[in-house]
Amino acid sequence: MFDKIKKIFSSDKDNATEKGTNEVVVPASKVGPKTYVVIGASIAGVTAVKKIRELDKNVKIIVISKDENIYSRCMLHHVISEHRTIQGINFVDEDFMEKQDATWIKKATVKTIDPDNKKIKYEKDGKEEELAYDKLLITCGANAFVPPVKNLREAKNVYPLRNIEDAVGIKEKAKDAKNIVIMGAGLVGMDALAGLVEIDGIGNLSLIASEDRILDKQLDLRAAKAYEDKFEAKGVKIYKNCMASEVFIDENGNINGIDLGNGEKLDCDLLVVSTGVRSNIGLLEGSGIETEKGIKINEKCETNKADIYAAGDVTGTGIWPLAQKQATVAATNMVGGEEVIDDRFEFKNTMNFLGIPTVSVGFITPADDTYDVLTYEDGDNYKLAVIKDDVLTGFIAQGDISYVGPYTQLIKNKIKVDNLAQKVFEIGYSDFLKIREDGQFEW
Ligand SMILES: Cc1cc2nc3c(=O)[nH]c(=O)nc-3n(C[C@H](O)[C@H](O)[C@H](O)COP(=O)(O)OP(=O)(O)OC[C@H]3O[C@@H](n4cnc5c(N)ncnc54)[C@H](O)[C@@H]3O)c2cc1C
Repeated sequence: MFDKIKKIFSSDKDNATEKGTNEVVVPASKVGPKTYVVIGASIAGVTAVKKIRELDKNVKIIVISKDENIYSRCMLHHVISEHRTIQGINFVDEDFMEKQDATWIKKATVKTIDPDNKKIKYEKDGKEEELAYDKLLITCGANAFVPPVKNLREAKNVYPLRNIEDAVGIKEKAKDAKNIVIMGAGLVGMDALAGLVEIDGIGNLSLIASEDRILDKQLDLRAAKAYEDKFEAKGVKIYKNCMASEVFIDENGNINGIDLGNGEKLDCDLLVVSTGVRSNIGLLEGSGIETEKGIKINEKCETNKADIYAAGDVTGTGIWPLAQKQATVAATNMVGGEEVIDDRFEFKNTMNFLGIPTVSVGFITPADDTYDVLTYEDGDNYKLAVIKDDVLTGFIAQGDISYVGPYTQLIKNKIKVDNLAQKVFEIGYSDFLKIREDGQFEW
C-alpha cells in the first residue's frame, strides 16, 4: 500500500533504516518519545487524549480530524434552532489541545492505514501526507446512511444530520423553505424536528415515520403519542407507516417532492434524512483490520492489529457514554495500563422534546406473548414495564423520570425479583440497599 515513503516523521536519519535508494523507514519511537496518533476529535478522541496525557506526561500525542471544531453531536438541534452557536456546543475548553500538549491536525482526512509499517496516509489542503505512529487509536465515528430511494442520493437540498456542516446547512435552507420534510422518526430525526419547530416563521413541517409511531425503538404507542400530540399542536404533520419510495427533482436537481410509498405525494423543498448510521470504516480498506458492524475490538479495545485500538461509533456502537468508556479503556491500555470494558450497555435513552422528559431503558417491545407488559398512568406521568420470568427487560418513564436508576440496574444486570409484576412500579433506591459480600444486590 505504501510503496514509497516520501515523508518521514523526523529528520533524525541516525535512527533510520535504509530500505533502498529512495526509501527510509523511521519508526516513530526512534525519534524521541513514543508517538500516539488519534484519528477523530469528538467525544472518543478527546476523552482518549485527556486520559493518555493524564497517564503519561511524555508521549507525543497527535490528533488528526476532518473536523475543525470539537462539538457535541447530541446538541446539533440547538444550532438548527439558533439557540446555540458552534462554540456553544463545544464540550471542552477552546484551548483543550494546547492544554493537553497535543498537536491537532484539523481539516485532514485519513485515507489509509498501514499497520505493517505503522503509518497512516492523510489528505490535507489537497496534498497527501504521511504520519508514523507507535500506537494508533481510531475514533472516526459513523456516517449518516442515506437509503437507496430513487433520486434521493442525487437530489439537492437534502441533508443528513451528523456533522456541524449539516446542522448549519439545514438552518440556512430552512429560512426560505416552504415545505420541510424529515424522513425518519428515530432520535436523530426527532432532534432535527425539535430544532426546526423552534424557528420563528418556519415553513410547513412534515415527519415520515416508517412504523406506527415515532421513536418506535424507545417508546410504546402511549408514550409516543404524548410527543406526537405536542408536535401536531405546533403544526407538524406526521405520516406513519410510510416508506418513501421516490424523491422528485426539478430541472436543476433540487428536490421538489416525495412519494410516501402509498400513492400520496408531499411537496418538499428541504429534506432531512435520518434513517440510521453506518460506522465509518472506508479508511480501513487494505489494512487487514477486522470489522463486523464496525471495527472489531476486544474487551481492551484492541483491534486485531498490533498497537491499533478503536473506540466509539466506529466500533458499531452508537451512544455518547459508551464512546467515552471505550476511549478511556483504549487510552489506558495504550500507555501500558490494564483496563477492560465491563459495561457495554447501550440501551438507555433520555429525551426531552417540547418539555416532556422520557427515559427508555432496554427493549420495550416484547418479542412474543411470553412477556408481561404492565403500565401505570397518573395524569401526564406514565410508566411501562416489560417483564419476562421475573426479570425486567424494558422500562419507560415519562413525565416523572425520578427513580429510573434502580430500573436500569435491574435491566442491565438481569436481576431476578420474585413476583416482580406485583411490585414493579413501587421499586425505589432503598430496595437496593442490601448488597451481599460478593457485591450482588440482594432483594
Ligand atoms: C443528531 C444526533 C443526536 C445524538 N444524540 C445523542 C444522545 O442524545 N445521546 C447519546 O448518547 N448519543 C447521541 N448521539 C450519538 C453520539 O453523538 C455519538 O455516539 C458520538 O458522537 C460518538 O462519538 P465518536 O467520537 O465515536 O464519533 P463522532 O462523534 O462521529 O466523531 C468522529 C470524529 O472522527 C473524525 N473523522 C471521521 N472520519 C475521519 C477521517 N477519515 N479522517 C480524519 N478524521 C475523521 C470526525 O471529524 C470526528 O472528529 C447523537 C448523534 C447525532 C448525530
